[in-house]
Amino acid sequence: MTVAAHAPARGLTGPDAARLLAEHGRNEVAADHRVPLWARVAAQLRDPLITVLLAAVALTLAIGDHPDAIVITLVIVINTSVGVVQEVRAESAVAALSRLSAPAARVVRDGVQRTVPSAEIVPGDVVALTEGDIVPADARLTEAAALLLDESMLTGESLPVTRSADPRAPGDDAVRAGTVVLRGRALAVVTATGADSALGRIAAMLRPRPEPTPLQRRLAGLGRVLAAVAVGLCALVFVLGLLRQQPPGEMGVTAISLAVAAVPESLPAVVTLALALGARRMAARHAVVRRLPAVETLGSVTVLATDKTGTLTEGRMVVERLWTPRSTATVTGLGYGPAGGIRIDGTTDGAVQGAADGAVNGTADIAVNSLLTAAALCNDAALRPPSGGDGQWGALGDPTEAALLTAAGKAGLDHRRLRETHPRVAETPFDSTRKRMSTVHRTPHGGLLACLKGAPETVLDPTVLADPPELLERARRAAAALAAEGYRVLAVAEQDLDRLPEPPEEAEHGLRLLGLTALADPPKPSAAATLATCRRAGILPVLITGDHPATARALAVRVGLLEPGAGPEVVVNGQAIATGAVSDLTRARIFARTDPRQKLDIVQAWRARGAVTAMTGDGVNDGPALRQADIGVAMGLRGTEVARQAADLVLADDELATVVGAVEEGRRVYDNIRRFLVFGLSGGAAEILVMLAGPLFGLALPLRAGQILWINLLTHGLTGVAMGAEPVSPGAMTRPPRPPHQHILGSGVWQRVLLLGLVVAAASLGAGLWAHDAERPWQTVLFLALLAAQLGTVLGLRERLLTRANLFLPLAVLASAALAAAALYLPFLRDVLDTAPLSWSDLAAPAAAGLAGFAAARLRKQGI
Ligand code: ATP
Repeated sequence: MTVAAHAPARGLTGPDAARLLAEHGRNEVAADHRVPLWARVAAQLRDPLITVLLAAVALTLAIGDHPDAIVITLVIVINTSVGVVQEVRAESAVAALSRLSAPAARVVRDGVQRTVPSAEIVPGDVVALTEGDIVPADARLTEAAALLLDESMLTGESLPVTRSADPRAPGDDAVRAGTVVLRGRALAVVTATGADSALGRIAAMLRPRPEPTPLQRRLAGLGRVLAAVAVGLCALVFVLGLLRQQPPGEMGVTAISLAVAAVPESLPAVVTLALALGARRMAARHAVVRRLPAVETLGSVTVLATDKTGTLTEGRMVVERLWTPRSTATVTGLGYGPAGGIRIDGTTDGAVQGAADGAVNGTADIAVNSLLTAAALCNDAALRPPSGGDGQWGALGDPTEAALLTAAGKAGLDHRRLRETHPRVAETPFDSTRKRMSTVHRTPHGGLLACLKGAPETVLDPTVLADPPELLERARRAAAALAAEGYRVLAVAEQDLDRLPEPPEEAEHGLRLLGLTALADPPKPSAAATLATCRRAGILPVLITGDHPATARALAVRVGLLEPGAGPEVVVNGQAIATGAVSDLTRARIFARTDPRQKLDIVQAWRARGAVTAMTGDGVNDGPALRQADIGVAMGLRGTEVARQAADLVLADDELATVVGAVEEGRRVYDNIRRFLVFGLSGGAAEILVMLAGPLFGLALPLRAGQILWINLLTHGLTGVAMGAEPVSPGAMTRPPRPPHQHILGSGVWQRVLLLGLVVAAASLGAGLWAHDAERPWQTVLFLALLAAQLGTVLGLRERLLTRANLFLPLAVLASAALAAAALYLPFLRDVLDTAPLSWSDLAAPAAAGLAGFAAARLRKQGI
């Protein structure tokens, strides 16, 4: 494919991109596969219960029972339509979610870099790649710095490969769709998209198949057991009816209808819908669910492993203190703006030196100047002048680096000019495993200068620095003291070189220490409250950070993650994990100086303990841990594409509180499914009980087939679905998470089903018997009482009776009541359902049954 020639710096123009998109199609591996309506209807009709009902229609027609044939047909039509509608709603909710979490990429168009959905990338586009990006299409590199790619998803080769734009190494400049940038930066011109790309060619292998969630699988199993029990009991009703000389045809239809009514056939649909709608509500609260099972798992999370920078803290760094071998200084001013200055506080080497204080905007201290010059050169960030109404300067790139530029500015150094006078000729980028970076620059005098910055442990090392051991020791003590105050500390060093280092990492030996920079990153105002909510909800927060143990500890105490007096054993160092010195990782609350790969060990340790873990991550190496955690949580704004695509949950606002909100939604969904189960199963049990016990009390055939199906339609169909939208219970976040392996009918649900089933059956039979003795139309009274008792339980099962949060439920109950009335007072329905109109006094008995159902459901007030 030929690619339009243009200057990579400007990229395509908007109109060109649109034209190419129309020409080449979207950059997607497979178009959505839509299921036609007829196929959906056919799938519904293949449901065993519907097949049974179809047989019942044939049977009723054969014995000339036209009214029942009409009702059953009506039930089939309504059930099928409800099923199809639910399926379509659930699918569209899930599709909307996958659109929200669709991959994105950065392209240069009209000379500016912007983020676009990967699907809109066209051949000829210039894509910018940085650490953690997934290459969106096949492309040819035009510019690359230390680019390291993981191609394992295409080739299966687990060793990372380097790529360069070097024209002398043909073929080395090709990057392929689907591979991951582990390190470095690059610009590349897209050569092939969609099905033409490397990823497109193996798309069939990668296409995810929607799998049922664990809950759906468990419920399907439960459904089969219940169906077998119900069918057995219905067979019993049939046999007993025959023994009482009831006509076999009528008994057959009745038994079939009873089976249909008693089996909670809408259960899978209700569950899928509840999960999908739960996911939609989470999305409205900025938590985008990428896999449906996450919705149910979220409710049972017991451990929340969070990272620090940007999650518990603002992620807005500001340099506050400087340390050089000669002096200490304080930097004033907030944010990334130039306001503020540098004040030299005193000496650190014991020499007598008059403190040159009050030097605002520019400092005469040579040591401080060299420190900030190197920090500004070994730096990829930029500062964004105030643009919006808030008048705030912003950070472009890494906030740590941007803060260093701001500090340099306060010392009178202009980083843009510095970068012009000292062009970069080589670099070894930062990565969170090495925890340092270095750059090599050509100086105005034609020499070479290497600058390095990184975590003190990785810089204050005799293999890196050539300084005397006493100085290193002094710097280490200063770094530890600053970290204990909660600062993020970076050590900075430099050296003159006489030749270009090859490989560039060669520059990281024999340097001279320039000093330390201490950056403050205040905790988010919401962090303490969020962690307190976690605690109340029985979720244990732990902190995993790349930062220094003392920095992490200081922050943890400030946000209430750790008691101020907590012993040293709660803080574990990454190195100790690596050497296997920690026997039980689950005792720690803070993991500091961790390598992202150690997150995996931490997750596994917790999971081995039976914990359900949610883990936040944003980096390129966080993928495996995010996948391993029960709930991998990626940051939508700050996170890398790799992290986002590996996660179960993406936070659109990067707020930890959003995870907690999602947990609340998860608990709500689970509660509502259990509520529906209590309601549906107790209703089915009551119907069977009435049919079995009625004859013992002289009510030969308590209900007719059509009546049973009508009740089923009004209870399961309308109100059942409405129960899925019940609001979260007020106590949902003050109780511990449910045990992960708890059965869906566990912790009292089963008993409630039996109790409610008994009460509903007794109340309706009581009403029927009363009417029988009073020589009133008892079958109609019984029919209405059974319906009223079930509607009573629906209302009684609400956590908050008079809440206006889910008006759909009271409306559904009202609609059901109206349809029940229609069954009695509309002549056509009266004929097909074989009911009789009731007088006001007759209605008292069903009303009492309704109250009984309501009261029984209210017996347990909290939780479900
Ligand atoms: P958290 O996991 O809490 O978000 P983090 O992501 O900030 O922590 P890293 O980014 O891995 O952790 O940083 C680890 C350490 O590396 C920091 O404490 C700092 O000393 C050093 N460091 C961070 N950014 C840079 C950088 N751009 N250049 C050099 N060193 C850095």
